[in-house]
Amino acid sequence: MKLSDRLYSFYAGIKMKKLGMYFITICSIIVIWKLTVIESGVDRLQILREALDLHKEELQLSQQQLILLEHLEANRDQKSVPTIYAITPTYYRYVQKAELTRISQTLKLVPNVHWIVVEDAEEKTNLVRNLILESKLIVTHLNAKTPPFEKFKDKERWKKHRGVEQRNAALTWLRNNLHLNIDKGVVYFMDDDNTYNIKLFQEIRKVKKVGVWPVGLVGGLNVETPILDSATGKVKGYRSGWKPNRPFAIDMAGFAINLDLMLAKPNAMFSYTMEKGLQESEFLSYFTTKEELEPLADNCTKVYVWHTRTEKPNVNGVVEGFEV
Ligand code: UDP
Ligand code: MN
Repeated sequence: MKLSDRLYSFYAGIKMKKLGMYFITICSIIVIWKLTVIESGVDRLQILREALDLHKEELQLSQQQLILLEHLEANRDQKSVPTIYAITPTYYRYVQKAELTRISQTLKLVPNVHWIVVEDAEEKTNLVRNLILESKLIVTHLNAKTPPFEKFKDKERWKKHRGVEQRNAALTWLRNNLHLNIDKGVVYFMDDDNTYNIKLFQEIRKVKKVGVWPVGLVGGLNVETPILDSATGKVKGYRSGWKPNRPFAIDMAGFAINLDLMLAKPNAMFSYTMEKGLQESEFLSYFTTKEELEPLADNCTKVYVWHTRTEKPNVNGVVEGFEV
């Protein structure tokens, strides 16, 4: 081979290598870009998953991206399980870390959950950020501060709306990041202080439009529940401690809405103008009618969620060096 030919093939080799490098870089960028938008379409992510798994060291994925990869791996055989989007408003007080620990560990027992944590705060806090990292759940972490005029004073707790700003921020996120008829799932408002049986999440996954079930320890009753018509099995009324004649006398913990429906009705939001105590009822009116409700939890005979409230602790002294 002539020297010029050898030189030519040498340079051609370098060119090919360079081209190869460009190709890998571009592929990596596309893969990372794809991963930053956390999607639930496991089908669509299958090839991506395999490619990522192969190159995860080189790609130096962030912890959330590695967790997503693990979840995709774990969910390989459960492609048809719809994602549950659990929306949790939360605010700083002594029991916040304890509440979030409790519910994050409940969610660890539930497959295919995407937890949307919305802090009622000017900025996201390290307390919540660290708890999320430790949980190894798939999480979208947002913040939305309740305007000062809406902050409740202790004595009139019941009078004010709580979680409005935060739930709306989560709904906006869902509508901006997920796609109608492509992403599949069910949306549930999961307050940080309630108690959840993991069986509830199996019920939530069954929701076609709007599903309902009993909620324990709420409204001055041992349980609030939809009342079913024994002939049709449909909801005909409500056993509720307060205004049972509301169109939907159901606590925030007592219903879930299919993601398709949530995305199809972009105007459905919570609002401060809704009458006090009518948030749930007015919100549900955007989506469904009483007749259409889907009774779950064994025809509304089982309690899988309790509207528990944590007592405000009496803290008289602070031991430095601890984050409780
Ligand atoms: N919440 C909030 N900011 C507040 C008060 C409440 O983000 O100023 C959250 C709280 O963490 C919970 C939800 O909103 O997840 C409902 O609040 P709470 O449990 O106090 O309401 P209740 O159960 O008494 O109706
Ligand atoms: Mn509560």
